Order: sequence, then structure tokens, then C-alpha cells
Amino acid sequence: MRYNSLMGLDQAPTQEGFKPWRVEIPSATDKKLFASIDLKNPSKRVGEELPASVYIEDEGRNVLLDFGTLLNPPVSFIVDYDHQYNYELRTVMVSSSIKSPRELLIVLHEMGHIKVYDEDTDLKTQVEQFPFGTPVPPGLPDPVLTMERRVWAQAIQWAREMKKTSGVDLFKLFQNNDELMGWLRMAGLRTYESRGVVEGTGTFTKDAQVEAFLRAAKDSLGDEVKSGIDILRKSETETGKKMLPDF
Ligand SMILES: [Zn+2]
Repeated sequence: MRYNSLMGLDQAPTQEGFKPWRVEIPSATDKKLFASIDLKNPSKRVGEELPASVYIEDEGRNVLLDFGTLLNPPVSFIVDYDHQYNYELRTVMVSSSIKSPRELLIVLHEMGHIKVYDEDTDLKTQVEQFPFGTPVPPGLPDPVLTMERRVWAQAIQWAREMKKTSGVDLFKLFQNNDELMGWLRMAGLRTYESRGVVEGTGTFTKDAQVEAFLRAAKDSLGDEVKSGIDILRKSETETGKKMLPDF
């Protein structure tokens, strides 16, 4: 099955067009560590897509952690245009144009979707019943927001465990906890929180951190943040409600 044709995209990224990604990432030990996304040793091939591996290795190219094995049964990765997940295929799509190591947290987030669905089929059913963009019945906590919060909590938990087991310190990609919180809202949660804001049933969380983060990073906002800003700007126009601080 071609996932891209399901998504209305004609073409998957090709092997020729894909450049393996490898960057040094902060280490909690004296070992130099690198994160890689490439087409080597994939756990399994999914349809006709480009199978990929996401892993951490040391300077001697010894693999210390294969992201796919954080889940049991493991997930497969394929290269795609954006970070996404497909529960039925037990597959995470990783962007062929990854730019920042912070996006590893987004890869962990997409994997978190699969783990949360593994553990909570009731939530999966509710999300399918009330997908983002449809009204949620009064009194029911927004299932999409519940899921997204749990998925981020899972991603952070994996990041903590990785720091202990392989020394990878993804938290050092941020200056402090406030910057992490601001980034995390803008790369993910704030868009989902906006449904509650529009319907008057919820508010934005960590607003001060979001404002400080946006001001400080103004000229160097990553793509993962910019797409959230675009969605919220559009929502401001459509609803007349303020979705973003001035920055
Ligand atoms: Zn998500």
C-alpha cells in the first residue's frame, strides 16, 4: 500500500532524493553521541515506501539505541514529507527534510501515539468519534487534547529514559524548562488547545512560556513551530479570537 496515495500525495520521497541525516546531539556523559536517520537496517519494509531507521550511535558508529525498539512490538519507520504516524501499519513517517535535532522529540511524539492507542482503545474510539475540527459534546473532555497531552508526556518519559540508558540528553537542546514548555506548546499542543478556547470550554496553558519562547526565538523559529503558527493565525481570522501572543 502506498501511504502517500492515501494522503492524496502522488509521490513518496525517492532514494535518490533522500540524504541521510546525522548530527551530534547533547550527551549526559563524556561520550560523543550522534542521532541518525537513514535507510540502513530497517526493521521491516512497508509497502513501496522508503524504509528508514532512527537511532543513536557513538563515535565508533556503534548503535546504542534503535528508536523502533522503544515500543513492543517495535514500530517501523518510513521516510516521508512530514512526521506522522499510522497506527494500523504500526509505522512512523519521518520527514525527509529534518532540520533540527529538536524534531527527534516530534518523532518520539508520533511513536507515542502508537503506544497510547495500544494502551487505551477507549480513547482511540473517542478520538475517531470526535476528531479535531468537530464539536465535542458538553461535559466530555476533548479526547484529541487528552490524547495529545498523553502522547507528549510519553515522549518526555522516553527522553528521560534515554538520558539514563544511553546518555542522550534531548533536554539540553533547550536552554531551560520554560523554553522546552514554550516550544512544546507551539510545536504541538497549542493548536489542539484552540478547540477548547473557541468553544469556551478550555484555555491555553503555559501562555507566559509560549510568549517568552516566541519573542526569544522570533527569527529562528523552526518549521515545526511555524506550521503551528500558521494554523493559529488562520484560526484567528476565522474565529475572531486571539490565538497567539504579540511577538
Ligand atoms: Zn500528535
